[in-house]
Amino acid sequence: MPSKRASNIEVKKINRNRIFRYVNKYERVSRPDIASALGISTPTVLQNINELLLEGLVLEVGEFQSTGGRKATAIAPVQDVFYAMGIDITQNHVGLVLTNLSGEILRHKRVSKIYRNKRDYYKEMADIAKTFLAEGAGTDFNIGGVGISIPGIINLLSNKIIYSHALNITNVDCSVFTEFIPYPCTFINDANAAGIAEIYHIEDKFNAAYLSLSNYVGGAIIQEHDSFGEHDMINSLLYLGDNLRAGEFGHMTLVPGGNHCYCGKNGCVDTYCSAKVLARHADESLEKFFEELKDGNDSYAAIWEEYLNYLAIEVNNLRMVFDCRVIIGGYVGSFIEPYIARLREKAESRNTFETDGTYILPCRYKVEASALGAALQCVESFICKI
Ligand SMILES: [Zn+2]
Repeated sequence: MPSKRASNIEVKKINRNRIFRYVNKYERVSRPDIASALGISTPTVLQNINELLLEGLVLEVGEFQSTGGRKATAIAPVQDVFYAMGIDITQNHVGLVLTNLSGEILRHKRVSKIYRNKRDYYKEMADIAKTFLAEGAGTDFNIGGVGISIPGIINLLSNKIIYSHALNITNVDCSVFTEFIPYPCTFINDANAAGIAEIYHIEDKFNAAYLSLSNYVGGAIIQEHDSFGEHDMINSLLYLGDNLRAGEFGHMTLVPGGNHCYCGKNGCVDTYCSAKVLARHADESLEKFFEELKDGNDSYAAIWEEYLNYLAIEVNNLRMVFDCRVIIGGYVGSFIEPYIARLREKAESRNTFETDGTYILPCRYKVEASALGAALQCVESFICKI
């Protein structure tokens, strides 16, 4: 049974964490604001703010206009106290993101680099990351962690990439990726990372299925969660399943006996909804496909219509299983916004229970969502310890 003293320490830690998160989120708040918004007593708020000021995690930034009585001092987070870098490793690219405690993309870059499971590659990847940081106009970033996003199944307990079809690796130790990176590193599946990035900043958290439509189809299942608290928010948000394979939406059967999938089966969602399905008609360029579609190319319009028919079935299936919002992400997701009404219409026509397709959302991040999500793991683990 936990002692009363232990539980008091726990409450103190939770209050301190909630106070810091509140300041970090709203960026300019007063002590009375914090007390009233969080329902924490004024003396507790004063004590915690004093401690955070002493530790250099928050600072005073002037006063609010008075509405009578004493002017309240404005408190702001010191966001530059911690930076994190996200690295997204794909078959053909290395994506990079820099963030701080704001959790927003401060800078990003994408470099062509064909993946090879060779020491040379890992050295070159680390050099790309170092160059990216050095490009920060003379700023010496205090990098506290690096999050690495991988298109594969990762077992963090055994510290192994169990399997990645895209990278063509099985049971590779995570440490080989990080040998040349001079910062603490964490790993996350690419679709899980992108899903986290999508909902991280949303005020009212919600359950969501994130459907990643890139060169392969994947996804993430995100559970509504109170972002305040001392626990690791990122891991609480993700449903990973019994074998870490939850969200493998690409291998749900869409058409029995249909197209042959790289996994060896037939009719998988991947063979109807991956970005490759569209890009193959436009010299392997998804940008070109969508440019011509916008310009009224009739044959592309027919391909797109058929694609949306399959996508609507998949989205409706996800709605039936999870009864939650479905976020359309990945490479195709970054182009989906002008066509979201059409997709909703098609999904609505399949739905047994509702006629409103507004549960289908276009992704917020058009670039580097996976790299950002990976970096957010580091940001969260820093904030959790405050
Ligand atoms: Zn398959």
